Amino acid sequence: METTLGSKQMSEPLLVIDGIDKNFGGVQAVKGLSFSIKPAEVIGLIGPNGSGKSTSVNLISGTLPVSAGSIQFAGRSVNALNISERVPLGLTRTFQTTALFAECTVLEQVLTAGHTSFVTAPWAAVLRTKAAREEEARQRAKAHELLQFVGLADVADQLTSAISSAQQRLLMIASALASDPKLVLLDEPAAGMVAKERKELSRLIMGIRDRGIAVLVIEHHMGLIMEVCERIVVLNFGQKIAEGTPAEIRANPAVIDAYLGGAH
Ligand code: ADP
Ligand code: MG
Repeated sequence: METTLGSKQMSEPLLVIDGIDKNFGGVQAVKGLSFSIKPAEVIGLIGPNGSGKSTSVNLISGTLPVSAGSIQFAGRSVNALNISERVPLGLTRTFQTTALFAECTVLEQVLTAGHTSFVTAPWAAVLRTKAAREEEARQRAKAHELLQFVGLADVADQLTSAISSAQQRLLMIASALASDPKLVLLDEPAAGMVAKERKELSRLIMGIRDRGIAVLVIEHHMGLIMEVCERIVVLNFGQKIAEGTPAEIRANPAVIDAYLGGAH
């Protein structure tokens, strides 16, 4: 995993989204959204239900194509690339609902997720050459390290269907990290978590950043957002209504009105 970044890389944005729109028939889910993310920065994306947060993550990750606007990642346009073409560039996501393989173990799930970064040719794996065996051992060690990192080492050999929903969310994060991302997009990672689990998730998100990986997090829990994010982007009806530090967002009248005041 990349832990050192050159000073030039640090100063240039990793992700630049510029005026992106998404229309679903007559519904404009995202309208003219622009913001950027620097390497190893933690950004929050908040807003009321239906304000376009998940759609924004779908557009940035390449789950859905944009209707208009541009997305630049690591210095190149990724508009024309789908999700599986963006992952190898270092842009990966988790889903709001857990999407795991029920019939495999926690360790196998992480190994499968990491297969995009396998360097051995398929024929070498079939022949089980020395290089292929070494690569497999390396991948297993990496998967174990990631499970340790997210706090799932104890359940590595359990079926993904047998662990708690909070553990499944941590597993999705480990799976996302297995592709060696530069940016991970987390859509409501704390859903279904109790306070203690949310605290651990906060620490994990800061640990991801400490590895040099940027994080975009969508979350309803203001406590978590305010604790982990350096900057927050606020959406309302598909448009950005505010952007700033947690303190600035807390004090912003438009945010209080549209979001904090209305929804809470
Ligand atoms: P959030 O994640 O902030 O709750 P979403 O991005 O899921 O909001 O939704 C934004 C708007 O786009 C909503 O009005 C929603 O109904 C609509 N929407 C989202 N996905 C689709 C889709 N696949 N087809 C049609 N409308 C959609
Ligand atoms: Mg959503």
